[in-house]
Amino acid sequence: MSKIIQLPKLVANQIAAGEVIHRPSSVVKELIENSIDAKAKNIKLIVKDAGKRSITLIDDGEGMEKEDIKKCFLRHSTSKLKEAEDIYKIKTMGFRGEALSSISSVAELKIKSKSQKCKVGTEITIKDSKILDQKNSDIPFGTIINVKNLFFNVPARRNFLKSNNVELRHIIDEFIRCAISNIDVGFILINDEAEVYNLNKSNLKKRIISIFKKNYDKQIIECNEKFDSISINGFIGKPENSKKTRGEQFLFVNNRFVKSAYIGHAIIKGFEGLIEEKKYPFFILFINIDTHKIDINIHPTKTEIKFDDEKLIYSLVNSTVKKTLDQFNILPSINFDADVNFLKNVINNYDSTKKYSKISDESNSIRRNNDWDEIFDNVKIENKITSIFTEDENTVITNKPVQFLDKFIFKQLGEKLIVFNHKNCQQRIIYEKFENDVSRFSNTQQNLFPQYIDFSKSDFEIIKTIMNDIKSIGFDIEYFGESSIVVNGIPAGIFELNEKDLIEGFIEETKNNNTNFLEEKRNILLKFFSKKVKITNNKFLSEDEMNMIIDKLFACKNPKFTPDGKQNYIELGIEKVENLF
Ligand code: ADP
Ligand code: MG
Repeated sequence: MSKIIQLPKLVANQIAAGEVIHRPSSVVKELIENSIDAKAKNIKLIVKDAGKRSITLIDDGEGMEKEDIKKCFLRHSTSKLKEAEDIYKIKTMGFRGEALSSISSVAELKIKSKSQKCKVGTEITIKDSKILDQKNSDIPFGTIINVKNLFFNVPARRNFLKSNNVELRHIIDEFIRCAISNIDVGFILINDEAEVYNLNKSNLKKRIISIFKKNYDKQIIECNEKFDSISINGFIGKPENSKKTRGEQFLFVNNRFVKSAYIGHAIIKGFEGLIEEKKYPFFILFINIDTHKIDINIHPTKTEIKFDDEKLIYSLVNSTVKKTLDQFNILPSINFDADVNFLKNVINNYDSTKKYSKISDESNSIRRNNDWDEIFDNVKIENKITSIFTEDENTVITNKPVQFLDKFIFKQLGEKLIVFNHKNCQQRIIYEKFENDVSRFSNTQQNLFPQYIDFSKSDFEIIKTIMNDIKSIGFDIEYFGESSIVVNGIPAGIFELNEKDLIEGFIEETKNNNTNFLEEKRNILLKFFSKKVKITNNKFLSEDEMNMIIDKLFACKNPKFTPDGKQNYIELGIEKVENLF
């Protein structure tokens, strides 16, 4: 006897529903998206028991005609797609014709709707994917959909639902995503009679402020970039307002919320060096791109996306974030007159010697001098700096730096006392110095006695994968024998370097940070390198050395933080100091 049967329609629908409808928030997402596709201008969502008991959506969109109401909950029935080709031009949120059919197979569904074309509205009640009741409705226009007792007929799913708090959180997440990407629509969310959100039609900034907090006004920066047919816009948070949780990160492609670890990475990389470890920046970014260049039909919930040219999008997003931060955030926030002069003075000095305008441009001078000591000697800006800190002709504010233990430098800048953690500062300086300088041996001082280092076979395999990266930092190394290397030279201007420890450390770091991103591999080594080496003997810093560290720090692109996101300096204003007494 044949073993194969075709599953009954209800069972097939229930299985399919599992793909689209996971929890009450999935229903919320699908219903709101349908209202948006129906060009609604006001959407009201009323949930009870965090959507477990009931979810009602009321919209003022196009509505449906009687015949369509009777069809809309059938599987694969949609008004948004006619032929396969259309998938690649899709502009609506829905197109698979699956949502209402999935919902109707796992919940009790009531739909009231009236299209402009009809004199009277229609109401239908559906259970187990079948129409139970149909009658005229007095609904004036638009659509009301009520979803009751979700998963009443799939106990395993119902039991899987979490507490009301958790489920409501999921609903709010979906609601917020829709509200952010549809700012010309008014949204209301009510849970158990309490109003959670009431958002009027507005612009993006105002909507962000009303969804999140008032003080976001000052915490976010606008992004707006266009590259041929691709545009990227939205807001990113200032680095200092980053949070310990990832919650406030939203990426939309053609107005559809998507999850993309790859693009997320591009954004986070844009913030690199500006935020502390384990903190996450705020972002709401919209990528607009020709619908032919993406595929959103990968997963039924349509939150995954494939770009034709992933690498291009990665670098566009990354450079948009960097550029935006560069414009608004890079200079340190010590914003008093003298400090501005101080920075100008530092930069002018660098320019005049054509050696220090940016740390990364320095390789040429290094090549000539081949020793940082000599370069330090060239930095003679002390007198000039003293002279700009005159309040008037007669009072000179001394601004000599002072070393405190072997860790800190205190320096008065204008009316603020700046405390530098000079080890952290040096990390940033070294990191940026080598970051862009990939020219081999440009920066090497030759060892008097070459160093031979043996490795285990497996470690030697790792060495092979990072050999070029190590060389690019300024090491002159070669393979030697079957599993050894010889170190002929080390990066110039570096103190207290134990080649063996460092290279073994490189291997360890590579093992711990398994990455396929080539650029990131080098970065990982560079971060480690900048932590392990010094550019001065830290015990007793001369005045010149202290000033040199401060000057070089402020010539960095990201002076505020170490490559790992630790703070390089703190500012103590007069109020803070007075409060200590
Ligand atoms: P899809 O959105 O993929 O087309 P759905 O199952 O979500 O599939 O909806 C099926 C159809 O029902 C839609 O194509 C649309 O024509 C109609 N519809 C659903 N919700 C609404 C609404 N709020 N207003 C007007 N029409 C709606
Ligand atoms: Mg839909």
